[in-house]
Amino acid sequence: MSNQDATKFLLSESDLPKQWYNINADLPVPPQPVLHPGTQEPVTPDFLAVLFPMELIMQEVSAERYIDIPEEVREIYKLYRPTPLLRARRLEKALDTPAHIYYKYEGVSPAGSHKPNTAIPQAFYNKAAGTKALTTETGAGQWGSALALACNFFDLALEVYMVKVSYQQKPYRRVLMETFGAEVFASPTNRTNYGRSVLEQDADNPGSLGIAISEAVEAAASSNGAKKYSLGSVLGHVLMHQSVIGEEALKQMDLAGEYPDVVIGCVGGGSNFSGIAYPFLRQNLRDGQRTRLLAVEPTAAPSLTKGVYAFDYGDTARTAPIVRMHTLGHSFVPAPIHAGGLRYHGMAPSLCALYDAGYIEARAVPQVPTFEAAAQFARAEGILPAPESAHAIRAAIDEALDAKEKGEKRVILFNLSGHGHFDLGAYENFLAGNLENYEYPAARVKAALADLPKVNLPEPAVG
Ligand SMILES: *Cc1c(COP(=O)(O)O)cnc(C)c1O
Repeated sequence: MSNQDATKFLLSESDLPKQWYNINADLPVPPQPVLHPGTQEPVTPDFLAVLFPMELIMQEVSAERYIDIPEEVREIYKLYRPTPLLRARRLEKALDTPAHIYYKYEGVSPAGSHKPNTAIPQAFYNKAAGTKALTTETGAGQWGSALALACNFFDLALEVYMVKVSYQQKPYRRVLMETFGAEVFASPTNRTNYGRSVLEQDADNPGSLGIAISEAVEAAASSNGAKKYSLGSVLGHVLMHQSVIGEEALKQMDLAGEYPDVVIGCVGGGSNFSGIAYPFLRQNLRDGQRTRLLAVEPTAAPSLTKGVYAFDYGDTARTAPIVRMHTLGHSFVPAPIHAGGLRYHGMAPSLCALYDAGYIEARAVPQVPTFEAAAQFARAEGILPAPESAHAIRAAIDEALDAKEKGEKRVILFNLSGHGHFDLGAYENFLAGNLENYEYPAARVKAALADLPKVNLPEPAVG
């Protein structure tokens, strides 16, 4: 029976999950190897140990279903977790839909998004391993500000390589990072060999996430162990840390007296989507539920819906491991859409394997309808969403309208991965009618796909 009157479904601190959920334990498809970018042989822990503390490497390869969340991490999670789950009653009314729309709101974190869910444990495990400083990249600054917050709590230094065009156009996230004590550099920089090589060819290069990753990786790998590297999405341990979102949402849907027919999230590297979706996927696989899981990406960077499922480098300079994923090609640079967090060329390998095997659905939406959905949501519910999260809202509204057309009572849950308070420039452009739709850039993807590494692998044994 559904809880007829309630709008907010809140958990107490004692309901904060004590364990993360690891999809590796339940993957219905065989895991794919992770390859060294130079030798193309499977990577060894030694290679990864240059960049990551051993505890995170162990999590990356673990097949344990549940991994304990350290008490120190839970204490910091309590600053903002459990996050609220709300029913979007005013949006339902505005759409005049029989569907019930719920959203999990991760924008209440101190950085304004889901990203601290992994920044905090990554800083914790680095501190515990004796790391003194971390390096990372950031696009518009969401990941950089989450990691700056976490490094500040654990007294670690932080170097952030921020994509130059964002550094110049979006100064406020940089100011937030600097307030937490991080050092922020406009990438490409002249601090790394790779950055210098890019600047030699093109002194005005505006930067890209792929270039910034390459610089941050090089800065850590060439530090003789003084610095480690931290990534905000794509990797298995990052996705696992985000499972707190879905574990809480399961309990909260129970409080609401309903179970979702469809769970929706936007996808950049795949961490907030899998954070909410994988615990529901576990219930599908192990408990006979049949929830649809829908990943939403921009038409300007459609890795799942238009990319090829192939082995590719994680970064532009070909220094990051090669993994099997839906990719647009590591040299692909997407159009400058305002959802900067969704411009990565690839996608988390577990999510790609699940999508390829039909366990997950994907959809691409253009920029203007995405902002229309964001504005409609803001006017109905009073929260200004991050442009990334707005992709999930677009799909949630479309599901609710489809349910209306079919006269179905559909229960929809989406992840509102962050607020848009640092994205007002994007909203200003939208309100002035200055936003463009970027369709699938077929020719540029084709060119980038010609650069994929030619990997020779025996087909992995099934079962
Ligand atoms: C970074 C970011 C994303 C995209 O990253 P994923 O790893 O795919 O979750 C989505 N929403 C917000 C608010 C972000 O900051």
